[in-house]
Amino acid sequence: MKRIGLFGGTFNPPHLGHLHLATQALKQAKLDEIIIMPSYIPPHKDAPDLIEGIERLTLCGLTFADTRFTISDLELRRGGKSYSVETLRTLRDRYPSDELYLIIGSDMLLSFDKWYCYDEILSLCTLLVLSRENEISSDTLRNYAVHTLGLTEGVGFLILETAPIVLSSTEIRAAIAAGEDVTTKLCDAAYDYIKEKGLYRND
Ligand code: ATP
Repeated sequence: MKRIGLFGGTFNPPHLGHLHLATQALKQAKLDEIIIMPSYIPPHKDAPDLIEGIERLTLCGLTFADTRFTISDLELRRGGKSYSVETLRTLRDRYPSDELYLIIGSDMLLSFDKWYCYDEILSLCTLLVLSRENEISSDTLRNYAVHTLGLTEGVGFLILETAPIVLSSTEIRAAIAAGEDVTTKLCDAAYDYIKEKGLYRND
């Protein structure tokens, strides 16, 4: 039986904060594999400046280079709004006897009861919550998971404490458009690809 994580996002572009989160999840939750899943259209936010799925897929491959990461085009091929529940149903069929973990940043947990079919999501996997910024305490997260979502710690959810890297794709897109250097925010291969293709530039 394998322990498989699902890490979804727009990855527009994938950055070192994402890589740090996924690497911590692998280590701390002793996962065998993490499936990196760029979304087609994110259901939880507007993304007017989303670049092509194929470019984000390529950037994910360059960023999540460890062999324990698998990059999936499942949501990009499915099209439409990328609902996690649909992805998890497919993964459950594909991996009937493995343990599935949905990896989310702590900022995403506190609105989890607004996610489409969230109760079905909870029946399909365990939530793996990683703290993104220091502002949300583990107690707040724990209370929400137990009292609002009705979960039991260790079974329905896990909270992993990580030193956060404060970074977002939004600030990276803005910096590239302004002609700034973002070497410290992206992995080298992904940044080289972005420069070569002229991605996120205004001109
Ligand atoms: P944007 O700025 O475009 O909204 P983002 O940087 O928040 O993007 P997403 O692709 O939307 O990136 O994030 C996917 C997942 O990664 C989410 O669960 C989010 O909480 C988490 N995440 C994003 N940035 C970080 C970071 N710096 N550290 C840890 N987790 C992060």
